[in-house]
Amino acid sequence: MLSYLHAFHAGNFADVQKHGALLLALRMMQAKDSAIACFDTHAGSALYRLDSDQAQKTDEARRGIQALWPDRQQLLSGDWKAFMAQLERFNGSRAALSHYGGSPAWMAALKRPQDTVTAFELHPTETGKLSDWAATVGIQVRHQDGLRGLLKALPPSAPRLLVLTDPSYEIKTEYRDVAETVIKAWQRCRHGVFLVWYPILPKQDHHRLFSALTASEVTKVLRSELTLAETPDRGMSGSGMLVINPPWGFEERFRAMMSEAGTADRLNATHQLDWLVPE
Ligand code: SAM
Repeated sequence: MLSYLHAFHAGNFADVQKHGALLLALRMMQAKDSAIACFDTHAGSALYRLDSDQAQKTDEARRGIQALWPDRQQLLSGDWKAFMAQLERFNGSRAALSHYGGSPAWMAALKRPQDTVTAFELHPTETGKLSDWAATVGIQVRHQDGLRGLLKALPPSAPRLLVLTDPSYEIKTEYRDVAETVIKAWQRCRHGVFLVWYPILPKQDHHRLFSALTASEVTKVLRSELTLAETPDRGMSGSGMLVINPPWGFEERFRAMMSEAGTADRLNATHQLDWLVPE
């Protein structure tokens, strides 16, 4: 039933955008001491080998994180430096970039003692790998539907909330299900920061997400879209993120990050940032 495996896509241009936004939002929230409950509704298996057969088969990381990695010393604003420093930690003493962190690994890396991280995953093999890894870093794993699981957990006992929702959109109803869940989650925790990833595909199904959100009472929805300069024959032509309630100042800092990353010699993509729903 579940056929998607993130190992084929880890470190691609969409991961760079998604994990860049996640890391920046979480770091900015941590400027205050109060505890943050972090939820990853679609976690994957946490750590990926870029030299695995799966990654080599698609070679997606070459046009993603591998295109930024050589510039990490001189590259990039302070926010990319923090990203690259963490990526170096995922790789230990290895000179080449062979390991890439999935979303729960980025959350776990930033987690302070007062924060919690809960990762949902439905695929049995992915959940097994995720659980083995999680036991070493002290985060909670739930082998459950992430959308239902999130709603059951809200409002959190911690004063603040960050949610990443990153489905594979294998099932057509997922756009509607994600929108309905985010709207309900927002109603239970209006100050929460919600990051929602979506693919940009020829059918433009992601507009279902937009119409549901714009018809709801949710406000402060920032939209980031990274569009590849060379449209591939098949697959995604771009990658999108919605950030609901971004921390103050996130917009400018994320715009700067993505404009540095998108240049022709790096991701070769244009980035647009606007408010799908303003305040
Ligand atoms: N968030 C991960 C990252 O950034 O590294 C990648 C996640 S991948 C795009 C989507 C994952 O969601 C897959 O591992 C898939 O097995 C899992 N999944 C699919 N439906 C799910 C559901 N209803 N609840 C939880 N996990 C689900």
